[in-house]
Amino acid sequence: MIHGSHVIVLPFPVQGHLSPMFQFCKRLASKGLTSTLVLVSDKPSPPYKTENNAITVFPIPSGSQEGKDPLQDLDDYIDRVYTSIKKHLPELIQDMKLLENPPRALVYDSTLPWLLDVAHDHGLRGASFFTQPWLVSVIYYHVHKGSFSVPSTKHGHSTLASFPAFPMLSANDLPSYVCESSSYPKILRIVVEQLSNIDRVDILLCNTFDNLEEKLLKWVKSLWPVLNIGPTVPSMYLDKRQSKDKSYGFNGSPRNLSKSTECMEWLNLKKRQSVVYVSFGSLVILKEDQMMELAEGLKQSGCFFLWVVRETEMNKIPKSYVEEIGEKGLFVSWSPQLEVLAHESVGCFLTHCGWNSTLEGLSLGVPMIGMPHWTDQPTNAKFMEDVWKVGVRVKAEADGFVRRDEIVRCVGEVMEREKGKEMRRNAEKWKVLALEAVSEGGSSDKSIDEFVSMFY
Ligand code: UDP
Repeated sequence: MIHGSHVIVLPFPVQGHLSPMFQFCKRLASKGLTSTLVLVSDKPSPPYKTENNAITVFPIPSGSQEGKDPLQDLDDYIDRVYTSIKKHLPELIQDMKLLENPPRALVYDSTLPWLLDVAHDHGLRGASFFTQPWLVSVIYYHVHKGSFSVPSTKHGHSTLASFPAFPMLSANDLPSYVCESSSYPKILRIVVEQLSNIDRVDILLCNTFDNLEEKLLKWVKSLWPVLNIGPTVPSMYLDKRQSKDKSYGFNGSPRNLSKSTECMEWLNLKKRQSVVYVSFGSLVILKEDQMMELAEGLKQSGCFFLWVVRETEMNKIPKSYVEEIGEKGLFVSWSPQLEVLAHESVGCFLTHCGWNSTLEGLSLGVPMIGMPHWTDQPTNAKFMEDVWKVGVRVKAEADGFVRRDEIVRCVGEVMEREKGKEMRRNAEKWKVLALEAVSEGGSSDKSIDEFVSMFY
């Protein structure tokens, strides 16, 4: 295929933003549009090409020490990322303007809204890419406009009924920063400012699909030039008839291949829908007592479980517990999540409800147990349970702690009871709709065509 036209794509460098934006580049490549993915990276390396040369990955230095965990000092990491982009991106755009096929647009992570002006200053169109659903962006929009008052206590009984097409939300269902603004002022500012210049953005891309947020979509489309292009889950996972190239993770290869194989082999030996898959994404850290309570709950549930625990966190689980659990549970430091969710042995996904994980569970037809932690996760969990009806959300104590009995109750509900069967039927329905959206002629496929056609 001859590739014409060219866009620059710039994700914020965390897993939950890199993967969907990289998948977006792959979709563009399949439609003949080339892209340069600017990767803010701790590891300096020369640019390289992938996807038949249709994607150029262009690393720029983050200025952080190689291998340093961003969570150790998130504020500092954010500052370094901003500084690096401000320093390197304008130079890069200038250089790329000299190419035979110069870039026509900058697709930037919505958490970097100031890049709209950088794009315009260089004569590029600015497309903001949202890695969170509209249901969350709309809340941030209202916070930004000051059009609702933030409830003062997270576990109070305040309700918000004013958002269009929303169920009643209690303070507990709102993104965490909205209610805990004093503890994370910087993050609150970043998430809210995503919407600060939304009225001037040329194109708004979102990793969701029209059917999923149907009612809300009418409203957002009446205000902004919205294109929903998700789920960015590769079709080969959504549609078992397609062959798998296992290239979801950024860079085309799953992390830690031997561990990946280990967990797939373990799953292969389990009965259909008998395993609870447990993962809290790439950033959430559970306190030691919460890890142990969850571990005890999983044990008491009597189900098989596959649990992703980062290497640095594994010391929170005593060796004696792992020995006692034996074949009933497997701990891995990273899993090929899409492959796991698509495996027939998996009966339920215990998730933190990060947007990618929620969308992946839903698109692969797996009922969920939501155990949200922070950011937009409580809101995603609310919609997962009450609007899409594909799972349950754990009921936490007033201090946020989740007791083992509650874990046992939720696992039982999803894995055993009639209600669980209904959740699975609903999840299967969403799976069909997700596949439809990304298949040829589906709503997300058409949105990508529309985006591509803007540059020819
Ligand atoms: N992921 C994975 N293997 C793991 C844990 C996470 O492939 O063991 C992927 C997961 O499929 C998802 C992303 O990492 O695409 C996590 O994004 P999400 O928005 O769910 O959570 P975050 O990490 O941003 O909190």
